[in-house]
Amino acid sequence: MPRIRPLSAAVVNQIAAGEVIERPASAVKELLENAIDALATRIDVDIVAGGTELIRIVDDGEGIHPDDLVLAVSSHATSKLQQSSDLFDVRTFGFRGEALASMAEVSRLKIRSRQADQSHGCELEVAHGRIGSPHECGCPVGTAIEVRNLFENVPVRRKFLKSVATEFGQIAEQFTRVALAHPRLHLVLKHNDKMVYQLPPVDRPLERLTAFYGQELTDQLIWVESERAGIRLWGYVGHPSVHKATRKQQHLFLNGRWIQDRTLQHALVEAYRGLLMVGRYPVAFLFLDMPTDQVDVNVHPTKTEVRFRDVQQLFRQLLSMLRTKFLSLDLQSRLAVPAGQTFSDRRSAFAEPAQRPLGAPNTETRTPQFEDFAQPTAAQTDFATWAKDQLTRWTPDAPPVFEAAADVGVNEPEPAPIDAPLSADSEHFTLPSPIAPPDAHRALQIHDCYLVVETELGMTVIDQHALHERILYEQLRQRVLSGVVEAQRLLMPVPVELTANEVAVLLEHGELLNRLGFGIEEFGKDTVALTKHPVLLGRLDFPQLVRDLAEKLDSTPALERRDLLDALLHMMACKAAVKAGQRLSAEEIEALLRQRHLVDDAHHCPHGRPTALTLSRAELDRQFGRLG
Ligand code: ADP
Ligand code: MG
Repeated sequence: MPRIRPLSAAVVNQIAAGEVIERPASAVKELLENAIDALATRIDVDIVAGGTELIRIVDDGEGIHPDDLVLAVSSHATSKLQQSSDLFDVRTFGFRGEALASMAEVSRLKIRSRQADQSHGCELEVAHGRIGSPHECGCPVGTAIEVRNLFENVPVRRKFLKSVATEFGQIAEQFTRVALAHPRLHLVLKHNDKMVYQLPPVDRPLERLTAFYGQELTDQLIWVESERAGIRLWGYVGHPSVHKATRKQQHLFLNGRWIQDRTLQHALVEAYRGLLMVGRYPVAFLFLDMPTDQVDVNVHPTKTEVRFRDVQQLFRQLLSMLRTKFLSLDLQSRLAVPAGQTFSDRRSAFAEPAQRPLGAPNTETRTPQFEDFAQPTAAQTDFATWAKDQLTRWTPDAPPVFEAAADVGVNEPEPAPIDAPLSADSEHFTLPSPIAPPDAHRALQIHDCYLVVETELGMTVIDQHALHERILYEQLRQRVLSGVVEAQRLLMPVPVELTANEVAVLLEHGELLNRLGFGIEEFGKDTVALTKHPVLLGRLDFPQLVRDLAEKLDSTPALERRDLLDALLHMMACKAAVKAGQRLSAEEIEALLRQRHLVDDAHHCPHGRPTALTLSRAELDRQFGRLG
């Protein structure tokens, strides 16, 4: 092996560039942040060819002193941080002194800048890390930076760039984040000389939200606000009727910085649980204002991930803020809004109160605490039912699992009984079904996979597995929440071999598994003993299910385990449900269809796939030319 040598500055910069500047959008982000740090009030962004040919950002900020120009493009040189203790009190976006140096290493970069007390500006060019000499130029107060031909000297990186449209899309996303976080900034974005966004300063992010996402979305936003221990959390969350397939429309801003945070994402999931279909995500634009010493932003080169001093506290604040708001709104009836009445008719309840001047004290007396949820406050009965259901999730010690006295061994896999009755409670889940209860006698199973049913409105094709899975999921969930999962105790515990990790993780979650009706006991380093299993699941291959559960637990990062119960319920329902390819008896079909309308949202299985497709009578008539 060759001897050890220090890396050249160029190599160091290229490595750093790889971390900070991944694509044109990352350069745009860094340049926008620099302009904001320089207290700009207006920023103009010009992009050519998705930023691969040119990124130009012009601001009216404080500018750079002529003597500092070379330092500005040198690595680890910054005006924003002086000593290491400043790292724990970062008030600017930048502080690493890396961005301009990184960009200059992998492009042709030009800076022109002038400070207010200078009679003229100063210009500097850097090509692929070679710094030219600064010279005077005429320019307005502020800074203009051009980045041309990004990655032209790093062909590998250039190859990784996507289409112009994709790269521009990413740039627009970065631009949007800055625009939402800084409504008082005048911002302009052009692509290939065409105006994309022209955003004059406004007072509130809401107006920006309308500019980006349209009135239709902003009409459905609910204003939320809370303050706890000097931490203010506020913003807009979507009504449950607005949901997305991804988390892309969940934005969180920490002191003006767009960030991503798993724990807070989980708080959102938790707050909307029961209001949204599984696999659908709420819309949220949340702003977090907190003292800088409560958070470490120096975790990640792009600073989109941060470390909070007390993330659990934030989790609770977000969750209780949303729950309190949801309890105070009549969300349920709004979901079934009668034809003719639009959502915006009821907007007043969702609206943001008259704006509080910046810095004015919050008059809200006290942010509700978790304990406040002991009694639901909603006046509406059906909503109160919903709320109560939500609240049972927080009961730390669910009543003990009821255990049946019977004893059987583990038999051949067999799907769960289809006609297991739903407990009376589960009627709470009933939503007005758009389809009348089907006439079971006229159901037809085709391809051992689908059930075809005549309905009042036409015909419906149902995926037998998806529907059964959904029904089982609701039944299981209902029972787990009310603490009455019937379990079958095994006379002879069944040993299940696993990895040492899986054993540990299963035992660690013994309490949770117990709630689900599983008895798991230690049985040596690589083995557990299964002592009981839930009855509702029929005769499954339980050792296999235990192995699957263990694998799931082991592969779920600790942070995500909050959704564990749900994930495990899905998995159990999926394994226990009838499969595609399974011939069903007339009684089984009837039993399945009978329970269909008892399940809320029977149109989607827990994975979010549809359980049923409907063809209307009108459509059939149209297809067969039976018009008029
Ligand atoms: P950082 O922002 O982490 O300090 P950068 O490489 O992004 O590092 O910028 C280096 C320095 O250049 C900054 O500290 C700042 O002093 C100066 N600078 C960069 N962009 C601007 C700008 N638009 N206006 C004024 N000064 C700027
Ligand atoms: Mg910077």
